[in-house]
Amino acid sequence: MKSTIPSGLNSPSPLTGEGRGEGEGATTYVLLPAPNYQPYLPIDFFMRQSCRINATPRLLLNRRIMKEPAKIKKPRGKARVIDGKCVACGARCQSACPVDCVEMTDAGEPLINVEKCIGCLKCVKACPAEALEMFFTPEELKILAALSGEGGEEVDEEELERRRKIAPYRGVWVFIEQNEGEPARVSWELTGAGRGLADSLGVELSAVIIGSGVGHLAQEAFSYGADNAYLIDQEVFRQYRTEPYLEAMCYLIGKYQPEVVLMGATGMGRDLAGAVATRVRTGLTADCTGLGIDDKRNLMQTRPAFGGNIMATIMCDRFRPQMATVRPHVMPLPERLSAATGKVIEESFSIAEASIFTRVLEIITDRSGKDSVDVAGAEFIVSGGRGLMAKENFAILEELAEELGAVVGGSRSAVDAGWLPQDRQVGQTGKTVRPKIYIACGISGAIQHLVGMQDSDVVIAINRDAEAPIFDVATFGIVGDLFQVVPALTTRIRELKQGR
Ligand code: FAD
Repeated sequence: MKSTIPSGLNSPSPLTGEGRGEGEGATTYVLLPAPNYQPYLPIDFFMRQSCRINATPRLLLNRRIMKEPAKIKKPRGKARVIDGKCVACGARCQSACPVDCVEMTDAGEPLINVEKCIGCLKCVKACPAEALEMFFTPEELKILAALSGEGGEEVDEEELERRRKIAPYRGVWVFIEQNEGEPARVSWELTGAGRGLADSLGVELSAVIIGSGVGHLAQEAFSYGADNAYLIDQEVFRQYRTEPYLEAMCYLIGKYQPEVVLMGATGMGRDLAGAVATRVRTGLTADCTGLGIDDKRNLMQTRPAFGGNIMATIMCDRFRPQMATVRPHVMPLPERLSAATGKVIEESFSIAEASIFTRVLEIITDRSGKDSVDVAGAEFIVSGGRGLMAKENFAILEELAEELGAVVGGSRSAVDAGWLPQDRQVGQTGKTVRPKIYIACGISGAIQHLVGMQDSDVVIAINRDAEAPIFDVATFGIVGDLFQVVPALTTRIRELKQGR
């Protein structure tokens, strides 16, 4: 799509978080809105939001803050360091402490001044190594035991305010991405994932369909598990442009207040999700590989972090809706039940074409030729890594792939060495794949590679190192020299096909 985008329309995200990755799969994900951010939208949008929040019955108010006889205050405890667990991460606990009660030793470990500690838990939460804990005196422990015996939950004002703020938000939404009425498969994968989340929360799952001539997608959404479809069908939404889609999404979110909004981590989804999260002032976790619900109705958003070396579960417990993007092929496609029905909620929201800064001048279809291969959508993949040693050695993988009707993919090392084009790379900064069979040849199984292929139905690993981590995710492992094993496999498959 060729379009003109005035400078400044897509402003940099004002949100704080872990930052921007690199390469084609660059990700930006955010945890909290920066306090000094000025939204594009008139401030009355937020006032409307606030009014709704204030108008909510205070069902969640704990009886303790009502005029009851004075009760014993719940002890908050004091923070302390657990011996041997501190990893000297760089004084995150000290930065988190609001009362300056954390001093750092020369070894970079914290010393807590218990006189000053107010038991706010901020240092405990900030510690990446779980090296801090709360401790209570025996008297405090007795009070805690007595309070828990009363069955009442002690809730402070801050927590009450948080609950009041998020209480009106209900329901799980999936944005149905489409191009000229053709839905993106990831939307149905997310509908399947959203169904599970909605069931856990005991709420309805809704599809959000914005476009022109897209009414048919509502039935499609029901067949993949949606209960409702919010439909905005207007000519102005024919082609995706950030501005009108942003306005439409924010209108719907403001009106119906969902607690979870999911979008595909595609070009469109990444663009729209970031803009929407910024506008509605909530958190967004990009490129999730797992989604779940905790016991406080928070969306647990799991994704690789710190260069893929850890899997982080991120929660947005203070803002709603909770927003996440998920890459295509990460979630399984749910079963399609064509007889399923649901409710279509048609919205007449529109926006004047003249008020949109971006114009679509021409649509240029990507015709990169028959050589272009969609690794992400392939059912069989033969993948090569640094163990192939040279570009020309990929010929043995091509032969095996041809016999299997597979496509050839590879690790980042193979791509970086120039042995494969970048669009064949599997992994964190490449494609996420979910084929029926994934054959990994001379690939060690670094975490950044595994996150892109570990959900394959069957993984066959060929590696001469029996300790290679790829064997941890392999269904079948062959310890041996790929230059012997791969041609032997190809020959055997040919023989089987010829009935020998
Ligand atoms: P190596 O780790 O060098 O492994 C080669 C393997 O081949 C070894 O296990 C060896 O035993 C085996 N071998 C050698 N010769 C033979 C033989 N003759 N027969 C059988 N086995 C043999 N990597 C990705 O793949 N995808 C990504 O998207 C990705 N993203 C990244 C993002 C970040 C931010 C970072 C920091 C790294 C990323 N990486 C990614 C790189 C990743 O960390 C690894 O470096 C890379 O996956 C290693 O590739 P490899 O397994 O081909 O090479």
